[in-house]
Amino acid sequence: MCCLAFILVAQVTAQPCFSLTWKDGKRAALSISYDDGFASQRSAASVLKTAGFRGTFYLAPTAGPDVIPHTQEWRQISEEGHEIGNHSMRHPCNDNNLPERRNLRLMTWQQVADEVNDGEGWIVKYIFNGELKDHTYAYPCSI
Ligand SMILES: [Zn+2]
Repeated sequence: MCCLAFILVAQVTAQPCFSLTWKDGKRAALSISYDDGFASQRSAASVLKTAGFRGTFYLAPTAGPDVIPHTQEWRQISEEGHEIGNHSMRHPCNDNNLPERRNLRLMTWQQVADEVNDGEGWIVKYIFNGELKDHTYAYPCSI
């Protein structure tokens, strides 16, 4: 029997390509995010705040029952320093069991763009009271 082994040696430079400086001289940063805006996540925001942390909550306003009826609470969460991010308006997915307007396999690119823009418009209007604030987007269903 013959054994053949390959050894790959890579030389890594000791010099970093770049360095980061965290706010207030901190040594690291931690990102905690939640998708969809479930009721339990409003409780998580409170727990995070009590522990001195802030999180990011990606809302899809019309995808479920926990966002629009609780707009005021989500606005309060934003005002407490948590990030409210866009997760599209209806949370479309590659799922043939979803209605046509939420099934990515049937949607046009314009409809997908409208999803992002509608979610963005809702957040700016109802969470940020019409002001533009820095925030991020998280695509739904790993698309
Ligand atoms: Zn989601």
